[in-house]
Amino acid sequence: GELKHDDLVNICELGQGNGGIVWKYCTFTNIDDHWCTWCQWFWNSLSPKKGIYLEVKPAVENQIVRELKVLDRCNSPYIVGFYGTFAAEGQINICMEYMDGGSLDLILKKVMRIPEHILGKITVAVLRGLSYLREHHRIMHRDIKPSNILVNHQGEIKLCDFGVSAQLINSTLQTFIGTRSYMSPERLEGAHYGIMSDIWSLGLSLVEMALGRYPIPPPSIEDIDRLFDVDPYGNQSRLEGYGCYKVLAIFELMEWIVNEAPPSLPQKHFSPEFCDLIDRCLKKSTTERADLNTLLHHPFYKRYATESDNQDVSLWIEQVYQKDQSLTNDNNNNQYGRS
Ligand code: ATP
Ligand code: MG
Repeated sequence: GELKHDDLVNICELGQGNGGIVWKYCTFTNIDDHWCTWCQWFWNSLSPKKGIYLEVKPAVENQIVRELKVLDRCNSPYIVGFYGTFAAEGQINICMEYMDGGSLDLILKKVMRIPEHILGKITVAVLRGLSYLREHHRIMHRDIKPSNILVNHQGEIKLCDFGVSAQLINSTLQTFIGTRSYMSPERLEGAHYGIMSDIWSLGLSLVEMALGRYPIPPPSIEDIDRLFDVDPYGNQSRLEGYGCYKVLAIFELMEWIVNEAPPSLPQKHFSPEFCDLIDRCLKKSTTERADLNTLLHHPFYKRYATESDNQDVSLWIEQVYQKDQSLTNDNNNNQYGRS
């Protein structure tokens, strides 16, 4: 039946973004009388609920909930599953599948860098997710970034937080708060933007995950070499001096993205195919930038598109969380589950 506010019990907070807080909750129906003890053990019966605070009139609220019904028809291995949406207590609530590996920004905090063969799998999943949204729902994503790409222990990689509801997009602040932006130059300039903008965001996210650092302003060649010399596989979670780079203020950052040369990957540390894909995604001019179809035929995509199993991603996630556990000895922050 329909999901209601009263059916949900909050368990813990998963994270906060600009729009609201993501809670992990369980439903009474899932877990019968023993939910209290059981929910600590049965991770699968827990699902995150994203609550978005909005000060809008009931009519607008209803329209948003209506528009979000599209999510019920989203059915793709590359898109997070949705269980229902409803409005309650001035919040729009979106209930979705729990991804126990968390988002790629969380993972990046644990591992420092994501290896190229995993980024290959991520590229395949994101491009397939984007093409699913375009082919089946005629929408673009609008917010591709590491925190909106989720993974689980089965090695699945899925997109969340895409712009299905025009009214929700209008009602939430579309500005960004913080020190980084994944928005394309054309979007930052206030020009008309479309799906090509998602391609830019994918490119920038991939560079960040490959280097382990938000790439604007770009690190010097020497910095990168030093980093890869000390730790070729990015296995260490913290390196001295790694975080010491200039953080630009929002305005400087936007100016940089619009006016300076786009970031790229160092040929020395990544395959030519990967470097080429990044260059094509990060063209400032939309007419030069690769479109979805071109990327779906790119050699880097093809290299990782052929294997259908998720085993290497699944093993990698397991390693990430094992290492995290041995390093911190702190299970509270461990989303992966019990040891
Ligand atoms: P923004 O609001 O700018 O999009 P964000 O993506 O970090 O930033 P949220 O979308 O509110 O913010 O998500 C907060 C955090 O909750 C994410 O970073 C992610 O780690 C976690 N999260 C969100 N959805 C899920 C999910 N389905 N499964 C597991 N964790 C999730
Ligand atoms: Mg998000």
